[in-house]
Amino acid sequence: MISSNLHKINQDIEENCKLSGRKTDEIILIGASKAQTIESIKEAYESGLTHFGENYLQEAEEKIENLSKDLVWHYIGSIQSRKAKRIAEIFDWVHTVDSVKVAMKLNNARPKSRGFLNVCLQLNIDNEESKSGLDLKEIDSFVEQTRDLENLKIRGLMVIPKPREALGQQKEIFGIVKNIFLELNDKGNNFDTLSMGMSSDYAAAIQEGATMVRVGTGIFGPRK
Ligand SMILES: *Cc1c(COP(=O)(O)O)cnc(C)c1O
Repeated sequence: MISSNLHKINQDIEENCKLSGRKTDEIILIGASKAQTIESIKEAYESGLTHFGENYLQEAEEKIENLSKDLVWHYIGSIQSRKAKRIAEIFDWVHTVDSVKVAMKLNNARPKSRGFLNVCLQLNIDNEESKSGLDLKEIDSFVEQTRDLENLKIRGLMVIPKPREALGQQKEIFGIVKNIFLELNDKGNNFDTLSMGMSSDYAAAIQEGATMVRVGTGIFGPRK
């Protein structure tokens, strides 16, 4: 089942790339594997998936320890500041950075031997009060204050928009994120990553410029 789901999603990625004049190798598919077993991740890996996203540190530690070193691990959960150190030690990417304080903790804890920690700023694109993420007006100051953190590489933006049913509405919000991304680069940043799109809206995200899509149930089925 995982293998046929992956096949279908890769076909979708290809189709949506064609529709929008993009190349499939511009897009990295991340398997959002929270609450999925080590066996399921192994099965996905054997079907060609190499990037995996985890939300809970303890759960992730066990998986990372027990799976092939070829896997690339993305932290996509909210970051409690006391867990930042361990996150910086074991992950390759962190998508959910939304404060200078956490960025500094990650930077200080990143082992030199592991090279840069790749980081995305999480943007609270729908201005939801309960949600994590920086507000748009806070981005410039964040970028300014994290510029000299030598163990982090700020790669771009991550968003989790609130659910929208219609493709047109999904495209509209992702298009807004893309424009923010382009404006940031016009201002002198060198971002190359837009992490947006999940099982229900990755097609729209790809059409609007996503470079990483995070798909959970679409690959693994319902979470246990
Ligand atoms: C769980 C999760 C996903 C995947 O969600 P699905 O709807 O199962 O595809 C993507 N991104 C984040 C941050 C998540 O927590």
